[in-house]
Amino acid sequence: MILAIDGPAGAGKSTVARELAKHLGLTFLDTGAMYRAVTWAVVERRVDPHDEAACAAVARSLRLDFDAEGQIRVDGRPGEPAIRSEAVTAAVSHVSAHPAVRRVIVPMQREEARRRGGVVAEGRDVGSVVFPAADFKFYLDASPEVRAERRAKEVGRPDLYGEFLLAMRERDRLDMTRADSPLVRAEDAILVEADHLDAAGVVKVMLGRVKARARA
Ligand code: C5P
Repeated sequence: MILAIDGPAGAGKSTVARELAKHLGLTFLDTGAMYRAVTWAVVERRVDPHDEAACAAVARSLRLDFDAEGQIRVDGRPGEPAIRSEAVTAAVSHVSAHPAVRRVIVPMQREEARRRGGVVAEGRDVGSVVFPAADFKFYLDASPEVRAERRAKEVGRPDLYGEFLLAMRERDRLDMTRADSPLVRAEDAILVEADHLDAAGVVKVMLGRVKARARA
């Protein structure tokens, strides 16, 4: 079974995807981690994130796989926490916007899902482009204000709320307006609004949809 969850940064997709995977006996595929891994190497090698051919060459040069916990490895090295650094977060939407980079990464995502025999995948285009025939598609949304507030709380820095809000809006803008595989709600994706729901609430709604179909 393939379950696809798309949505903007900070909507809680990873937490929810991990939890759902546990409930459904599947593993979790963090597609954003793969773009972050490429970006990490781009930053480390001082490649220009706006140079499409150079970024694609970096993507092709890397061996990306996942450890037993589903954490990404880059040429055998753990990608966490380096792939979450500020420098990577600031550059990732530029790197991931390049069609030549996506042409390297998307087949890896499909192969990974095939190898594992099913996944709960989360990202920006997993329902719309990567797995168009997914068994379930969800679009998890939340307002930028709520997402920025949650992120500030998570890191214990309420003073950074304004900064997170601006950064989130900018990443949304880049991810939603790029020409190749922009963040969109697939026509057949079920919209889940998380402004007034915590992760457990979102999981409950999604599991409810999966179980309702199993009963039908
Ligand atoms: O999900 P996360 O915030 O870690 O993703 C980092 C970035 O990777 C996103 O902002 C987006 O630019 C890119 N991405 C993408 N397609 C995906 C997943 C992530 O372009 N399926």
